[in-house]
Amino acid sequence: MSPLIPCSSNLTSRKVAVIGAGAAGLVASRELRREGHEVVVFERRDRVGGLWVYDPNVESDPLGIDPSRSIVHSSLYDSLRTNLPREIMGFRDYPFVVVKEDGIKKQRDPRRYPGHKEVLNYLEGFANDFQLIELVRFETEVVRVELVEEGKWVVKSRRRGGADDVDEVFDAVVVCSGHYTEPNIAEIPGIDAWPGKQIHSRNYRVPEPFRNQVVLLIGNSSSAADISREVARVAKEVHVVSRSITNGLPTKKLGYDNMWLHSMIESAHEDGTVVFQDGSSVLVDVILHCTGYKYYFPFLETNNIVTIDDNCVGPLYKHVFPPLLAPGLSFIGIPWKILPFPIFELNSKWVAGVLSGRVSLPSQEKMTAEVEAFYLKLEAAGVPTRHTHLMGDNQYEYSDWVAAECGCLPWEEWRKQMAKEYVKKFTSQPETYRDEWEDQNLILIAQEDFHQYLP
Ligand code: FAD
Repeated sequence: MSPLIPCSSNLTSRKVAVIGAGAAGLVASRELRREGHEVVVFERRDRVGGLWVYDPNVESDPLGIDPSRSIVHSSLYDSLRTNLPREIMGFRDYPFVVVKEDGIKKQRDPRRYPGHKEVLNYLEGFANDFQLIELVRFETEVVRVELVEEGKWVVKSRRRGGADDVDEVFDAVVVCSGHYTEPNIAEIPGIDAWPGKQIHSRNYRVPEPFRNQVVLLIGNSSSAADISREVARVAKEVHVVSRSITNGLPTKKLGYDNMWLHSMIESAHEDGTVVFQDGSSVLVDVILHCTGYKYYFPFLETNNIVTIDDNCVGPLYKHVFPPLLAPGLSFIGIPWKILPFPIFELNSKWVAGVLSGRVSLPSQEKMTAEVEAFYLKLEAAGVPTRHTHLMGDNQYEYSDWVAAECGCLPWEEWRKQMAKEYVKKFTSQPETYRDEWEDQNLILIAQEDFHQYLP
């Protein structure tokens, strides 16, 4: 596949910095270049793929909170398989299919929910096929982004081993730096005196260190579910705590001899015990926080125009543009509980179109008013601030809206249906959803649809 660069004369070409060469940064750079912009991608690692570049190393601080620790970008565990089926996970015009060469399957992971290496292969294939590697400055970290004058941004970057930081001026900056490196840690009364070990899931790789341990796992995400099952195979006991488990007495998890579900933690104590809100207690060796992540943009200087409050990045018009700094500053990859790659793709088309002048944004006042109305709506519905960017079922309406805004096709019906089927299956059969499914009819429609994009 060759890169498409249709630069029509009435579109404005801008010099754009993209921060990060993960899934978001890669598709953003493709769309920006397609729209005729001049693109520089800054990537602090030595390869593309972002989160999907597995690193067996863990950070010196297992909780990942010491600011002086050397950051390991990967938050993946060795056994991780995707939590989305490949048909809906990939970019629209670059389907995430099992690659065949001359009719022979390459030695890759053909599973519908493949392991993490397969995703990295896919992203590397995307970068190579669209010739994006030439846009990327590897081992170059952005350390500061600042608005200097009307419409101009200075990006300060630091090349590994380079002598000095370099300042460059851009017309626009697209932040694609991901949000899975800054751990969120559960607050536990008495934890300072508690003598056991603590670790955040971003520093979990394999279950072996938990052999014969009594493990307390906090969290309710897809990773928490995977990790608890994996750890239970070697640990003495696993005690799972999450907000969604009601305040009753501990219950044994169905199908497990050594896993219990608990109400929330009341306190931790010097003698090693952890007491739960229902009054029960357990002597614990290790607390494993599967408690998610915080948005974190240490390089961004916006005079407090963009802030992070209770894990809400704002104000952001439709989760992408800060009204007062648009279109020069934008974010791709903020929403969660979504189909990440397809949303990144649509948002990238939108940003690229707005920057070229092909797509218009409302006035600053209108965007600000819209963001405020959105916040009020969430508040009235009792949605906590920290869930501002949680999209879930709203992603379908959102993706339709973005597609219409930037003049591209909305998501295919099969993709929406398959995503809804997947949510049902994931919820009802969390242990088996990756290997048993009933939406074969949708798979066939998807595969038919993919033909138009495959060589
Ligand atoms: P990242 O992949 O994190 O990429 C950000 C890039 O920016 C990195 O390469 C980083 O090095 C670079 N960077 C950061 N700061 C700087 C800087 N200052 N200067 C230069 N470079 C910088 N999604 C799915 O679709 N399917 C799944 O199955 C799935 N499973 C997941 C499992 C886990 C455990 C986690 C944490 C997430 C999962 N996700 C999954 C969501 C995942 O976040 C997205 O799929 C996607 O990979 C995120 O891409 P990104 O580009 O936004 O961020």
